[in-house]
Amino acid sequence: VGHVVIVGAGQGGFQAAASLRTEGHGGPITLIGAEPGLPYQRPPLSKAYLKSGEEEALQLRPASFFEKNCIDLMPETRIEGIDRTAARITACGRNIAYDHLVLATGTRNLRPPIPGLERALDLRTLADARKLRDALPGKRRVAVIGGGFIGLEFAAVARRLGHEVTVAEAAPRLMSRAVSPEISTRFLAMHRGLGVDIRLGSAVTEVTDEGIALTDGAFVDADLVLLAAGVVPNIELATEAGLATANGVVTDARLLTSDPAISALGDCAVFPLTGSGRLVRLESVQAATDHARTIAKRLVGDREVAYTAVPWFWSDQADWKLQIAGLADPSDESVSRDDGAVLRFADGVLTAVETVNDAKAHMQARKLLAGGASARRDSLAERDYDLAMV
Ligand code: FAD
Repeated sequence: VGHVVIVGAGQGGFQAAASLRTEGHGGPITLIGAEPGLPYQRPPLSKAYLKSGEEEALQLRPASFFEKNCIDLMPETRIEGIDRTAARITACGRNIAYDHLVLATGTRNLRPPIPGLERALDLRTLADARKLRDALPGKRRVAVIGGGFIGLEFAAVARRLGHEVTVAEAAPRLMSRAVSPEISTRFLAMHRGLGVDIRLGSAVTEVTDEGIALTDGAFVDADLVLLAAGVVPNIELATEAGLATANGVVTDARLLTSDPAISALGDCAVFPLTGSGRLVRLESVQAATDHARTIAKRLVGDREVAYTAVPWFWSDQADWKLQIAGLADPSDESVSRDDGAVLRFADGVLTAVETVNDAKAHMQARKLLAGGASARRDSLAERDYDLAMV
């Protein structure tokens, strides 16, 4: 395939470069990222890093890895355009030619039009996390805009560090896009048990130096405000280059965009889910890394290889590890098992399994969902929803 250029040196971009070498690609690889330093993992930014401040532990590989594998890493380089006809990209007036281009540009924080929002801090990059960590000491009252995974992970850490924490969530329940109402309710109780003040159905209308104003007229005093209200995919490069986009760079099951010389992966890609064919965009380490492995295999020779892995995800909040196998729609039906696992169904077919501190059930669910044959509600009910039927 020749020279592979990867735009975005995050979780997926790094994995694409590494997997190309493991798959035997002998040509040049250029890995270009807008952020400074070596590629790193983001999940600890809202968890361990806030407590420890250990940056080296975040690195995906040391500098020697990139040298040894002849991966030309270009940090602090923002790609500004793609010239598809000439097969090259541009940064700071410089052109870089590619034989194959991989878009791994991820997402950025969604910034709703809230007056005063510039006062709020972000938690997306290492630079954001450093700033947040430095700002925390001495701030007694902390407010979080958004009761999704990142907002809640941060809330639990901040509470443990002794801060008074309020979370404002516009939806009527926590993590509503991603989990069942049962799991939302359980996590609500857990966070309230920790002493986190959670306001549901409360959109933020203004951020001031004194705190946040909510739609119900309440005002929450805060010395520090964190914005964690979701993300938007970085698709401008693709859109301007005329690639098909729809809340993400549209790809086929092989993660190939509408241009056969360009692939897309991870948080910025929209792809058809195996089985249903539904177009989805996933924000998870697993999707980014499995996408990268799939693309590497395809570029090295297996032209028809598709991404067929079962999506899975985790979130650590206080002492609870939430794990989700599969992908449910917010409207999917849910059945709670006695041991706490929640099974999701669409038209009687298992779509996802949510577990808390139960790695065994999570692994069984992944195996079951990967089995190919759909697991039906009736047959699972006969076995008392025992997942270990494979
Ligand atoms: P990213 O890792 O975001 O990398 C994209 C990179 O592209 C960025 O570095 C960006 O600067 C760069 N870029 C963008 N545009 C350009 C350009 N024009 N030129 C050059 N570079 C560009 N997932 C889980 O599965 N479990 C978790 O517990 C979890 N926790 C998380 C906690 C936090 C605080 C955050 C922020 C994310 C978390 N995630 C978690 C999500 C996970 O980190 C992402 O899904 C994953 O990083 C996606 O990988 P990616 O390669 O698609 O994008």
